[in-house]
Amino acid sequence: MPPVMAQGGCRYCGGDLPAGRAITFCPHCGQNMTVMQCPACSAELEVDWHFCPTCGRKIETGEGAAG
Ligand SMILES: [Zn+2]
Ligand SMILES: [Zn+2]
Repeated sequence: MPPVMAQGGCRYCGGDLPAGRAITFCPHCGQNMTVMQCPACSAELEVDWHFCPTCGRKIETGEGAAG
């Protein structure tokens, strides 16, 4: 079995993603497909991360702070 290539598919489950439309969540596994960019170094960040692993900048989510 060839290794699953993330390009063009879900990088979590490898499922094909619908083409021609914006994908926020994988229809197969439900993982969030969107990535954020660090405002300081433009590194790709996972949505769950609170700090950039590259430069250490705190990530502001923009959503209302809970609590
Ligand atoms: Zn998936
Ligand atoms: Zn950064």
